[in-house]
Amino acid sequence: MDLKLENKVVLVSGGSRGIGAEICKGFKEEGSKVYYLYKSNLLHSDDLKDDIQGIQTDIKNYAECEAAVEKILSLEGHIDILVNNAGITKDGLLLTQDKEDWNLVIQTNLIGTYNMSKTALMGMFAQRSGCIINISSTAGIMGVKGQTNYCSAKAGIIGLTKSMAKEYGIKNIRVNAIAPGYIETDMTEKIKRVDEILKQVPLARMGTAKEVADMVLFMASDHAGYMNGEVIVLDGGLTA
Ligand code: NDP
Repeated sequence: MDLKLENKVVLVSGGSRGIGAEICKGFKEEGSKVYYLYKSNLLHSDDLKDDIQGIQTDIKNYAECEAAVEKILSLEGHIDILVNNAGITKDGLLLTQDKEDWNLVIQTNLIGTYNMSKTALMGMFAQRSGCIINISSTAGIMGVKGQTNYCSAKAGIIGLTKSMAKEYGIKNIRVNAIAPGYIETDMTEKIKRVDEILKQVPLARMGTAKEVADMVLFMASDHAGYMNGEVIVLDGGLTA
């Protein structure tokens, strides 16, 4: 399938590792011009680091997000596709968890997604086209013990996605989300009792970052041109 993503200007938050790095690689292979944001680590993949530009940006900080978007606009003139992928976990039970840890996850995962969406949307609005893909989680659909902060943020991203889709569809801007289940990355490396978790997954394995990236590429392409306000679950059947 020809996705026709050549020369599209793509911005991926959290592109230095895991799912984000695989998304960057996928777009690069399709011939897109790829920029990514990172907090402290540059992309390590040797075959990519010369072709893809990283911009150090803390997505919690609106002014830094604005500066990153302005930098890309000054180089390229426009941004076609924004993938809001950056995210963190800070787990703990609600009653005992520090307020700071709770807030940090909301500020990064939800407010960071808002910051990037708003700053990139302004140009998309002016050019009357654009595509935003938000990486939510099945955690935002079903809730997880010890992750009230993460689940709240990821559920918030679904609300943001659907509301933005309704506000900006009329301007030819599509806004969709993916809700992955358990995907093999640094984030899930710290999970204990993986065997217990996999018993809940009908496919009996974790997903790969590439499987998420492939869905992002499809959703960004014109093949998904009528998809707007949708949340695609990629979880091996976990929530079926
Ligand atoms: P990783 O921990 O492997 O990577 C996280 C990425 O986010 C890194 O590139 C990191 O940058 C970046 N990041 C974190 N905080 C900030 C910040 N404040 N500003 C800018 N960048 C930041 O995560 P995954 O690849 O596993 O997850 C990617 C997304 O997918 C997340 O939103 C996650 O919630 C979601 N997800 C993951 C699942 C999984 O099972 N792995 C399941 C469902 C959803 P740096 O390298 O500089 O720290």
